[in-house]
Amino acid sequence: THFGEQTVALQDKQGLVNKVFHDVASRYDLMNDLMSGGVHRLWKDAMVAELAPPRAGTRPYRVLDMAGGTGDVGERIVNSSLGYAEVVVSDINADMLQVGAERALNWRYPQQVTFTEANAEELPFEDKSFDAYTIAFGIRNVPRIQKALDEAHRVLKRGGRILVLEFSQVDIPGFDAAYRMYSDTVIPPMGRLVTGDAQPYQYFIESIRKFPDPLTFDSMVGKAGFKRVKHQSFTGNIATLHSGWKL
Ligand code: SAM
Repeated sequence: THFGEQTVALQDKQGLVNKVFHDVASRYDLMNDLMSGGVHRLWKDAMVAELAPPRAGTRPYRVLDMAGGTGDVGERIVNSSLGYAEVVVSDINADMLQVGAERALNWRYPQQVTFTEANAEELPFEDKSFDAYTIAFGIRNVPRIQKALDEAHRVLKRGGRILVLEFSQVDIPGFDAAYRMYSDTVIPPMGRLVTGDAQPYQYFIESIRKFPDPLTFDSMVGKAGFKRVKHQSFTGNIATLHSGWKL
């Protein structure tokens, strides 16, 4: 299969995405570290710092980490709350969740997480059942992004918060050319070296280039009903953190 620049129908897109993550699941965390030089960890730390989950309270604090893959964002949230937050790590891909569930046995607070297979477009959760919804580097893989944002709004309680961390377009003169060159020449071969296949990483680069710019994405978050939507960009706009409130 070639799924480079060719346009794929929405239903086909999910199939391709699932194949990509099925193929890379066991090497996924290693690839993240290699490709970002470890910087994805700092962006995720910044996301969790922005969420600032409570460390105590009178009622449970429940977080849905959607497209949570191998659970690293979920682990950060639980650790940051000193074991108070309860996290549901949810992903459409059972292979990613399997790697995460095995890893979670060694978490500091392993009893604070559950893993649930689900499609971000159709969540199997009740209305108003979470205090926060996080999604890191996941939303650009979802075929119908607006539908996923609407679902996030539905499952959040009033006063709940959405945080979306995603790659954005680097548009800083000079740095943009360097980043493009790095993406095109370093990432696919590195992907082939580690996972035996460059194609998932070709998909990865193209999906970043197609994702809406931060202001357009903010307006989609607003359209789902979220208020006080804002964003901040990291590391020369390589990644952007969007946030909003269900008020
Ligand atoms: N959040 C993790 C991280 O930041 O390292 C994993 C991100 S990984 C790049 C993207 C994840 O999105 C994959 O685990 C993939 O299975 C998941 N995904 C893709 N489409 C999805 C969908 N429709 N619903 C839920 N998860 C989806």
